[in-house]
Amino acid sequence: MGFPEDLKSIQKSLHAGNFTVVDIVSYYLSNIESSKSLNAYIEVFADEALEKAALLDAKIQSKTKQLGSLFGAVVSIKDLICYRDHKVTAASKILSGFESQLSATVVTSIIEADAIIIGRTNCDEFGMGSANKNSYYGTVKNAADPAYIAGGSSGGSAVSVQSKTCIVALGTDTGGSVRQPASLCGLYGFKPSYGMVSRYGLVAYASSFDQLGLIARSAADIDAFMKVISIHDDYDATMLEGDLYSNLPNITSPKSKIAVLAPMIQNNGLDPNIKSAIMDKIDQWKVEGHVVEMVDFDFIDYLVPCYYILTTAEASSNLSRYDGVRYGHRSSDATNLYDMYAMSRTEGFGDEVKKRIMLGSFVLSEAYYDAYFTKAQQVRRLIKESIEKILLDYDYIVLPTTATAAWKHSDTIDPIQMYMSDIYTVLANLVGMPALSVPLSLTADGLPFGYQLICRVKGDKCLIDNSVA
Ligand code: GLN
Repeated sequence: MGFPEDLKSIQKSLHAGNFTVVDIVSYYLSNIESSKSLNAYIEVFADEALEKAALLDAKIQSKTKQLGSLFGAVVSIKDLICYRDHKVTAASKILSGFESQLSATVVTSIIEADAIIIGRTNCDEFGMGSANKNSYYGTVKNAADPAYIAGGSSGGSAVSVQSKTCIVALGTDTGGSVRQPASLCGLYGFKPSYGMVSRYGLVAYASSFDQLGLIARSAADIDAFMKVISIHDDYDATMLEGDLYSNLPNITSPKSKIAVLAPMIQNNGLDPNIKSAIMDKIDQWKVEGHVVEMVDFDFIDYLVPCYYILTTAEASSNLSRYDGVRYGHRSSDATNLYDMYAMSRTEGFGDEVKKRIMLGSFVLSEAYYDAYFTKAQQVRRLIKESIEKILLDYDYIVLPTTATAAWKHSDTIDPIQMYMSDIYTVLANLVGMPALSVPLSLTADGLPFGYQLICRVKGDKCLIDNSVA
């Protein structure tokens, strides 16, 4: 039996009694079983999800109890999001066996709105990666073709939606981790404005970049979730003041002004197929009456270096808490305190995480602090000012989400090339603005790719409801 793939239709059918929530959860569980080889989930909460589904069915049938706005929505959560009394590992050995004593504010909110969490998804360790190959639990495979990567770091989240095991995935996006895998799996991926959604209960990677993000099959489903999770939270001191998602202004004009950052689209590294699909999209927008113009942008060469200097610095500080004393893995071979710290961390962290801790410690070291960390902060401000200036004249900036479609697991990608693959996504996190990746087309091999729209801070609602996506 097939089920509708959007929340509105699911809710309508549930009300009409065409099927039950238990039916939907059972269907997703059977899809999880048949797509196991894709390795999207680290843990499935099968019994619990079925129990909650039965309770919800009773609530629907009672017809007297108020249903939450997300009833019938089955959700996966990235293994970087805390859910009380459930394990959370950040796909790292260092957190193996760790059980969370609290729920992230987003988790509490969606449960209160009657969503059901079906499991926790695989990802790159601590969110560090662009291919979901840095997980302690192994690589995630793309459901479009398992020979290809799913993207990272929220690869498991994207594949959980792509392989029809849930309707929406909660992920995190520090430099593109929600938008990039969403694009490579043919889905919508949304990173809200920094501070639009609480980060309380999310495992930190780089705190001034991290933001909770959503992966779904439609902008409408993202909208339904944003209305629930974008709420003020005293536990997160970096929340935006004033209006949040539900009270933000909508689009006023049906015709948009869109800026294309010329050097980003003329970049040699951009796959010609992606470039021409975006140019076709631009032509279509022009025919529809939108204004699309090329604008200059001087900072293309600084995006990735600036991002990696600042995120590794923040990561080296955030990850110092994993010392074998308070959390997870502790080395059993150590005979003194120093060795216990050193060996627990050596055994617990994977290579990519270790590399970033070292890089971060280096850029924060006394001798290099000004040359790297301070300089990168200054460059971040310049990038932000230049984008803000562009968005004074335009509603959106359009960009590719990725320079290429998914690559093969067997392809060797050197580390610099891997970092450079983030060139289109890190911009939104550097400037704290909302960004949406929209599915666009397929390559000749049938691999999906998308394009990206960025909007000014608090333009989140315009982005989701926009007339050009
Ligand atoms: N690929 C980027 C990185 O490795 C982005 C990761 C993310 O957004 N969590 O840092």
